[in-house]
Parts: sequence; structure tokens; C-alpha cells
Amino acid sequence: MSLWFERGCWNSSQLLGLSGNRGPSEVRRKEKNGVWSPRRQKRSLFETPSPRSAARAARDSERRDASQSGKAARVSPHSFIASTCRIGVGNDIHPLAPGRALILGGVRIPFEKGPVGHSDGDALAHAICDALLGALALGDLGQHFPDHSPEWHKASSLVFVRRVREHIEDAGYQIVNIDSTVGLERPKLGPHIAAMRRKLAQALRVAPEQVSIKAKSGEGLDAVGRGRAVRADAVALIVRHRGS
Ligand code: MG
Repeated sequence: MSLWFERGCWNSSQLLGLSGNRGPSEVRRKEKNGVWSPRRQKRSLFETPSPRSAARAARDSERRDASQSGKAARVSPHSFIASTCRIGVGNDIHPLAPGRALILGGVRIPFEKGPVGHSDGDALAHAICDALLGALALGDLGQHFPDHSPEWHKASSLVFVRRVREHIEDAGYQIVNIDSTVGLERPKLGPHIAAMRRKLAQALRVAPEQVSIKAKSGEGLDAVGRGRAVRADAVALIVRHRGS
């Protein structure tokens, strides 16, 4: 089945199980009546492959397995970056304290409390960096920007975002899109979302439409809900450059 999928033999109706177990004669009859489009003449999900195509599929599968097992012991870690699309997730949480600037997505938001952290404590930027690093299996933010290094003390997290974007580019990838959610009880983030998207998109060299930011309150629950912390979650999808 996976082989049929790789070869593009499934269409949407087959994936949804709508085509049923139609035999070749039924396909011809329906086609003759002009009911089905030519695309639907392709092999049904439930149809048994011919002995010839089944044998070819088995040979291909064995060849692939043999090739992979033979190389497994000496494969370079960078070989794993050969796939076309890669996905990563990231999250971050910072306690809130009076007298700290509340910065999210590189935007300063007026409020009496802000995140405690070695850098500016931008939880959203940190979550996005972790998602992008995760997509390339390059570890986490702390490995790249240690919180004991004076270099990053009070640093703008947009610096981290730019550096991580450089890692993505150096590996031959580009960002498809980022989706994120910020958990904060107060203040309301709605009026600031557009500015945050623009700021992050600028640092990532993508369009604001590729950066989604959603805001949630904690409904009075946990540290976020009690107004003691800001939390962010992010997912990033990256794709390899064509021809690289
Ligand atoms: Mg952090």
C-alpha cells in the first residue's frame, strides 16, 4: 500500500475509502457512461495488485531494505537532513515578575510584569527557535545560547531567531510556516499580534503570512492562569531547497 501511495496511485476518494472494491470491468463500464473522471481509473485502494506488479513491489522493497540496512552503521548524521520536509516543535515558559519588560515576538508590550530570564525572556521567540532547531535535530536553544554566558545576558531574543534562521539556510532549507500559541493571563495580546508577526517574519526573512501567533489565557488554572508565567508553544515546518 505504501508503494502505491509513493507512486501517486491513491486519489482523495480512495484515501477516504469512497471508491470501494471496484473491479476492472466496473471501471470500464463507469468510464464508458462518462460518470468517472480519467483520474479515477487508477488502482483502487482495495483492489488486489496484479502478480506482476506485486512481484515488482516486493523486489523494490527488498532492495530498499537491503540498501538501508547496509548503510545504517556508517551513515552520517547529515544524511538524515536529506529528506524534503522536516517538522519541529518547541515550547518555553518563564515566570513573570514586577519590573521586567514584557517582550513577546520581539515586541515590547506595556504591562507591570515581565518574564524573568537570562536574556530578554521572550518565550515566543524561544519556542520558535526550539521548533526550528528541532526540525533540523540541532538540539535546543540552551545548547546554542547558554544561559550562563555573559554574551547573552539581557540579549534580544531576535538575535537568537536570526542565528537559528541562518542554521536553517546553511543546511539548505527554508521555512514553510510556523504556528504558535502564547499562554498569558494578562494583558490581552490581540492588539499586538500583527506587530509580533511582522517582527518575527522580518527576523526569519519570511512573509508575515508564514508566521501564525495565537493567544490563550490560562482560565485561572496553573501558573499561566494565575498570572505567574508566560508560556509559548510552536510548530515549524521547513523544506529543502529545490536542487540543493
Ligand atoms: Mg526561554
